[in-house]
Amino acid sequence: MRRTVFDEDHESFRQTIRSFIEAEVVPHYQEWFEQGIVPRDFYLKLGELGTFGIEVPEEYGGAGIESFKFAAVQYEEMSRAGVSFGGSSTHVALCLPYILKLATEEQKKRWLPGFVTGETMFAIAMTEPGTGSDLAGMTTTAKRDGDGYVLNGAKTFITGGVHADRVIVCARTSPPLENNRRFGISLFVVDTTSDGYTVGRKLDKIGLRTSDTAELSFSDVRVPAEDLLGEENEGFGYLGQNLPQERLGIAFGAYAQAAAAVRFTTQYVEERKVFGQPVAHFQNTKFELAACQAEVDAAQAVADRALEAHDLGQLTAVEAASAKLFCTEVASRVIDRCLQLHGGYGYMNEYPIARLYADNRVNRIYGGTSEVMKLIIAKSMGL
Ligand SMILES: Cc1cc2nc3c(=O)[nH]c(=O)nc-3n(C[C@H](O)[C@H](O)[C@H](O)COP(=O)(O)OP(=O)(O)OC[C@H]3O[C@@H](n4cnc5c(N)ncnc54)[C@H](O)[C@@H]3O)c2cc1C
Repeated sequence: MRRTVFDEDHESFRQTIRSFIEAEVVPHYQEWFEQGIVPRDFYLKLGELGTFGIEVPEEYGGAGIESFKFAAVQYEEMSRAGVSFGGSSTHVALCLPYILKLATEEQKKRWLPGFVTGETMFAIAMTEPGTGSDLAGMTTTAKRDGDGYVLNGAKTFITGGVHADRVIVCARTSPPLENNRRFGISLFVVDTTSDGYTVGRKLDKIGLRTSDTAELSFSDVRVPAEDLLGEENEGFGYLGQNLPQERLGIAFGAYAQAAAAVRFTTQYVEERKVFGQPVAHFQNTKFELAACQAEVDAAQAVADRALEAHDLGQLTAVEAASAKLFCTEVASRVIDRCLQLHGGYGYMNEYPIARLYADNRVNRIYGGTSEVMKLIIAKSMGL
């Protein structure tokens, strides 16, 4: 089936990213993997390449293209090469929509030029040690004090939390209402050099080794009123509006990882000989890979359709949840079956399939777990 989601511009961008990965990522990736972080100046290189500014309007230094398709191409190319770009996906796919939709003109002028160049890296902090799926239960507070707010609390699992210069922090500014526990949450774009702002442990993860995932804590951090993003107390609604893009990005990344797994495995089974013949010659291998390819084709169709709908501004929260659930569950099954076909080598980090296996697992957890996706879909069915 001919794929219609990408045009010549996207394919040309694909070549640029592919060459960039070969020149600037692959030679250093083992070192980054061992250190558990990409060097800070790598983000400046991504900024120079132009990937951070694609969706940013021209007046702030970007290209002004209103499309998530270039980001999707980047997901495909990272997966194809078996690498990832640290916390940069969070910077673009998660944080940028909040700034574009909610920031005032003055805020955009302050933040977006640095966003585009990679000099100001962004992260987003929703999850807390005591609450992840149930975000309305967050306990970080921001109390009004004179011409600003005072922030207290802690966040965890924050992607890009070590390198971030600005973090979109979700905090309670008012108690929940009796009939609406989602009321009272606000978003702040917090300067990470503020007094009382502490980056805690860089967490030791089984996968996504090059992305810095951190604990953050806030002890009487003064946040100026001009760093409030959007309306006070309306933050939960903003999260709801932006989570579909985050979920689409995860769905796309997961499908792309599954596609890469099938590609890596098809090569491997041709080369590896067992009982005097390539593993590819066993009927089981052919059947396994054929079944995996069929699942990847289906996931690609779902991901492409969701991407197209998103670019048209039509992707609903339920459709994004459905795409995330389907693509991430397919990817887990496919990558596991592909790893099995590698035998013991599949368990070794030097083989890309091992990294894909570990990197992919989190797709069913972050951005909302598969169970939370099912809750959203079930609710839309009146259940
Ligand atoms: C590598 C990584 C990066 C992350 N990056 C970020 C980030 O940048 N910013 C950020 O804010 N967060 C981030 N997160 C947090 C992530 O979004 C949460 O881990 C996720 O939402 C789940 O929350 P939790 O871990 O508290 O799990 P819990 O909410 O404690 O869930 C535990 C289990 O209970 C299930 N469950 C929960 N509610 C229900 C229900 N109603 N019915 C049935 N089952 C239910 C869940 O599905 C899960 O299986 C990241 C997490 C990881 C692992």
